[in-house]
Amino acid sequence: MVKRALLSVSDKTGIVEFARGLEQLNIEIISTGGTARMLRDAGIETIDVSEVTGFPEMMGGRVKTLHPRIHGGLLCLREDASHMGEAEKESIELIDMVAVNLYPFEITVSKDGVNLEEAIENIDIGGPTLLRSAAKNYAAVTVVCDPEDYGHILKELRSTGVVSDQTKEKLAVKAFRHTANYDSTIDTYLSKTLLGEDVLRMNFTDGVKLRYGENWHQEATYYKEKGIEGPSLSNAKQLHGKELSYNNYVDADNALQTIKEVGNKNPAVAIVKHNNPCGLATGNTLCEALQHAWDGDPISAFGSIICTNTVFDMESAQYLKGKFVEIILAPGFEHDALEYLKEKSANLRLLELPQFNENFDTEYTYKYVVGGMLKQQRNVGLYEKWECVTDAPYPEEKRGLSEFCIAACKSTKSNSVTLAYEYKDGCYVMLSMGAGQPNRVDSIRKLATTKARENLELIYEREKPDMSFDEYWESVLSECVMASDAFFPFDDSIVHADESNIKYIISPGGSIRDEEVIATANRLDISMVFTGMRHFLH
Ligand code: 5GP
Repeated sequence: MVKRALLSVSDKTGIVEFARGLEQLNIEIISTGGTARMLRDAGIETIDVSEVTGFPEMMGGRVKTLHPRIHGGLLCLREDASHMGEAEKESIELIDMVAVNLYPFEITVSKDGVNLEEAIENIDIGGPTLLRSAAKNYAAVTVVCDPEDYGHILKELRSTGVVSDQTKEKLAVKAFRHTANYDSTIDTYLSKTLLGEDVLRMNFTDGVKLRYGENWHQEATYYKEKGIEGPSLSNAKQLHGKELSYNNYVDADNALQTIKEVGNKNPAVAIVKHNNPCGLATGNTLCEALQHAWDGDPISAFGSIICTNTVFDMESAQYLKGKFVEIILAPGFEHDALEYLKEKSANLRLLELPQFNENFDTEYTYKYVVGGMLKQQRNVGLYEKWECVTDAPYPEEKRGLSEFCIAACKSTKSNSVTLAYEYKDGCYVMLSMGAGQPNRVDSIRKLATTKARENLELIYEREKPDMSFDEYWESVLSECVMASDAFFPFDDSIVHADESNIKYIISPGGSIRDEEVIATANRLDISMVFTGMRHFLH
């Protein structure tokens, strides 16, 4: 039974409606200065907290509710005769509900130029104390720290006359989490300001248990980061299919990051397997991009994850007929495409991400190592400079293709090289990539160029161009661009690129043997740009 409620809120959203609802249920309302004023202005009766405590609110609001008449009323064990006896002796009246939200400390300290005094004045003391007292005694007291909960509580009270035990338990946990987060924010700010120390603090919601981890015998959980607004898997809406697996999360995240790197000048598609893009293309239409991305590695694309930068349409959906994919992540789905894909497979996971075109809302990335955590700024940007270092000039017409090629390379695990080709005016495809090798030469020689040959053989057979395969191979490779994620430590990579007729190379540069590398490029009539920006990805 709720007979008396104490309302003391900094964020006054919805408080008048809530108080009115309580009043209609004949619940007596106690409130602090600003809250009381607002309620009275709305014609709601309220008792001042100073009337209950017998003390004025004092010291500029620092002391309002910190009093045994308040905390005794909250903490008193109702079923304990001695508690009840003491309460009666000291004229402490029981309080059955607390609705409190706290001084906006986080907002205050995130403002430019905030000073320490202002920050300290915004450390709420009485509010968290009220929340903690009420939450500790949740069996008897309902504790509300979020205006979002007002409606539900009123509904329960109206329909059953009480707040259910289950709701009180949930609200108590929420209140403790709220005060814990609040104190964490204070700790982070004061550690930095007073001690010059950086505290690593991340804020996650309740974990979602996954069926298993990277392998069947590993348990796993996905935690959403709180308050993230930009594109992220945490914000994606699942429209169809099974729940995501651990590997799905990893790969879909790579697909999203890859496609964001490519941008949205043209429709683009990334196809990811094992945390690397195996297919990537842009096109005049989404389906054209999809087809070319698929051609980038049709073997690996089996069971892959697809991410697009444009709404998934029917033509693209039909292209996937008979092809097995795990996930499609897109800014949206055309209605008929959605129905078609749902029909195609009960398991295919369809994820809609309307925030797709916004920037990522995360400044840092984190990586757990045994016993430690690494934190770094996100890798933002493609290149720092654009400097042709060879005798052969680097044509400006290759800039768009080169940017695409760097984007592909940046999203591929090191050591990585990518080959990209402009198959049509302004439309690019990643011909192949070499990923995850402990040396760059193998990424080029054993993977990227070998794979490019295999893929082009398939396309050659399908499209039967009017030339020999060798001519076809040479015509494509001599116009493609090769990007390397890091500098060439020796000139051997340039020699191998030349063996496949590659003429345009992009590298960050910065090796102690740059001169030797450039001399070899000059000797082989290759043009090369140094970007000054390395893109290791591990
Ligand atoms: P009001 O606007 O009603 O005057 O104040 C509401 C705010 O006061 C709430 O954010 C609440 O957490 C806070 N509060 C309640 N009691 C105390 C107290 O004794 N000391 C301090 N510093 N804040 C309190």
